[in-house]
Amino acid sequence: MNNNSKHTENSSGPLIDKFNRKIDYLRISITDKCNLKCVYCTPEKALKHFNTSEILTDDEIIRFVKVAHRHGLSKVRITGGEPLLRKNITGLISAIRDIGIHDLSLTTNGLMLASLVGKLKDAGLTRVNISLDTLDADRYKVITRGGNIALVWKAIKAAESAGLTPVKINIVPIKGINDHEVEAFAALTIDNNYHIRFIEFMPAVTGGIWASDKYVKSGQILKKISALGNLEPFKFRGTGPSRNFRLKGAKGVIGIISPLSDHFCKHCNRLRLTANGRLRPCLFSKETIDIKTPLRNGISDDQLERLFLQSVKAKPKGHGLKDKQIRSSPISTMSEIGG
Ligand code: SAM
Repeated sequence: MNNNSKHTENSSGPLIDKFNRKIDYLRISITDKCNLKCVYCTPEKALKHFNTSEILTDDEIIRFVKVAHRHGLSKVRITGGEPLLRKNITGLISAIRDIGIHDLSLTTNGLMLASLVGKLKDAGLTRVNISLDTLDADRYKVITRGGNIALVWKAIKAAESAGLTPVKINIVPIKGINDHEVEAFAALTIDNNYHIRFIEFMPAVTGGIWASDKYVKSGQILKKISALGNLEPFKFRGTGPSRNFRLKGAKGVIGIISPLSDHFCKHCNRLRLTANGRLRPCLFSKETIDIKTPLRNGISDDQLERLFLQSVKAKPKGHGLKDKQIRSSPISTMSEIGG
């Protein structure tokens, strides 16, 4: 057991790590495959994907979530790759919900969402984040290398109608590509109850388009949005990394997520589980903990619990990336980790 945490092995209370952070959130990447190849997320040259046998099965994921739930895990986000490509996605969601995870969300590019939204809601999904990095159909095709923006809007409307609200829309502003659309995205919140979340461009993917001069600091994003009117701080339930604001009189919310310029490590409550079964204590961790091999070698629940606690213990105080490193050390692929 981790001597540095305030949690005992049999405890079902919150799991507090050695930096006094409550760890209750798991992001699970359920596939590294995607039906888009966004320029900021995936290199142009095809990635080598995991074989199906290398990916955690539904039962393995469910078993791990059960163990983590006993230690206070209460919030799960399903991501990828594109999570809706996974077979039996509704069955997996419903099984995770049955464990007692009532905050269960999904990050998707939305292309396949419209027709699935009802089933996902019935299975127990509570919210969706939809990635949309431009409002222009041609630019969408370029950024995603071929995507059809009409399907994304169909998904946004379908999610609203199904009550998967508030619909959150993720945009990664990148200099010279879509940063001139920041104001237009923010303006969407005036008449719509969307949460528009601006995420700082991170140095992901070796061989991708990352360059420090393409990175837009959250301060610059806020400055652009302020031109539209008064931005009032907005308190939203939950403990996510986003700093939230509302334009005076607007229906929706603007969220700013600044992993680099103003990193939120102090409040980080999450672990990540990669598609191939590795626990990643921090998005930028070099060290990961393999749970797939032990799971396939007949590990007991107690031993699995220890691996979970070990990954909590391995959570660093901060990602530790200084500006210079940010320029030089991209993390591996987002599609494997899930963002
Ligand atoms: N396919 C799904 C989607 O498109 O939302 C889920 C996977 S995607 C890797 C999850 C999130 O990571 C998306 O919102 C995406 O914008 C974000 N992301 C990917 N690469 C990023 C980068 N280099 N910097 C910041 N965010 C990134």
